Amino acid sequence: MTSIDVVVVGGGIAGASIAYELAASRSVLLVEAETALARHSTARSAATYVPGHGAAPVRALIAASGPRFARLAAELDAPPLLAPRAVLHAAFDADGAADLADYVAGQAGEPGAPLAIDPAEAHRRCPALRPGSVAAAAVVEDAADVDAEALHQAYVRGLVRRGGQVRAGSPVTGLRPSGSGWRVQAGPDGEVVDAAEVVDAAGAWADEVAALAGVPRIGLTPYRRTIALARVPDPSRMRGPDGSRLPMVVGTPESFYFKQEGDGLLVSPADETPVAPHDVRPDDLDVAIAMERVEAVTGLGLRSVRTAWAGLRSFVPDRLPVVGAWPEHPGFWFCAGQGGSGIESAPALAAFAAAVVTGGALPPDVPLERTALAPGRG
Ligand SMILES: Cc1cc2nc3c(=O)[nH]c(=O)nc-3n(C[C@H](O)[C@H](O)[C@H](O)COP(=O)(O)OP(=O)(O)OC[C@H]3O[C@@H](n4cnc5c(N)ncnc54)[C@H](O)[C@@H]3O)c2cc1C
Repeated sequence: MTSIDVVVVGGGIAGASIAYELAASRSVLLVEAETALARHSTARSAATYVPGHGAAPVRALIAASGPRFARLAAELDAPPLLAPRAVLHAAFDADGAADLADYVAGQAGEPGAPLAIDPAEAHRRCPALRPGSVAAAAVVEDAADVDAEALHQAYVRGLVRRGGQVRAGSPVTGLRPSGSGWRVQAGPDGEVVDAAEVVDAAGAWADEVAALAGVPRIGLTPYRRTIALARVPDPSRMRGPDGSRLPMVVGTPESFYFKQEGDGLLVSPADETPVAPHDVRPDDLDVAIAMERVEAVTGLGLRSVRTAWAGLRSFVPDRLPVVGAWPEHPGFWFCAGQGGSGIESAPALAAFAAAVVTGGALPPDVPLERTALAPGRG
């Protein structure tokens, strides 16, 4: 039997990032059910960093993560983790324009807030949009693509450098209180590890892991989201002003998004289909809807798909992440419910979560109270 300070369950971005932060002051074991880390949501995202995305606490985490990406790259010998690419929010009818005006007004004055631009400017920035189609637009200049794989690998490398251990192919199958801590059963041979604390970073499976421990669920719902990589018959149409690359375009209300990927176009219908946690696959209908919606506003001649995938975005009802423990179950910490922002908010969320778990000082750049994201918050 092994004894350790903290067992982190789940080897996606949530588990890897909090394990790295905790390993600064604790012995840490990261356990992942799959034989490779980051096979689920973390490997399937659109990999964008969009200031202004989500509810106010999520926006604060995203804003605080911005400067942290560059610091992490330097600290963990990673390549640049952010590649600038503006996001263009575009509405195509009067209702969409009203929604977009509310969206812009709701964030006015915040760092990285979307700025309204006129439709002509939207067409100038994204000539791939059908002429005259845009009713209203706003731009987020500080958005970027995230190298999510490099980010995840950097965290794992940093964890190991700090003396942390990583075990893939090691599903947690048993969890029970033991003394003042937890007894964790994981791996094909059911190896037992005693830990003072457990961090449940099991993504869409976080409530299943809690149930194993006899800990109340946080009420997580995984929602399927689909992405397809479309062929573009004439890639020269995907050039911005002066040959620059196109911004990412997000329809308002959010019913599709697209962004250029090499000579193809990544398209999503922004679907949210509630499902049980599983290794999710794309539905052909969702792929077809994405192609149709993006074709309707671009006329790029999208007809065939190179590849498509789906992943899970998991939310609790108020759509904020859950970081903390139920008071009746000390030492069993959730770090789950990151929804559609688990990559862009990971650096700040991991630092915040590690401070919550250890009781250490909260990061000064994260303007959240220690219990702001606790399970069962008001
Ligand atoms: C299509 C799509 C687009 C997205 N776009 C963006 C975006 O542009 N920007 C952004 O910031 N976010 C985006 N997201 C959201 C982001 O991908 C997620 O918030 C993030 O990856 C969640 O990370 P995670 O580590 O919690 O989950 P996961 O990556 O799913 O990791 C959880 C891990 O826990 C493991 N596990 C489960 N049960 C057990 C067990 N019993 N024992 C051991 N291990 C277990 C699983 O195998 C899994 O590897 C997107 C998501 C999707 C699906």
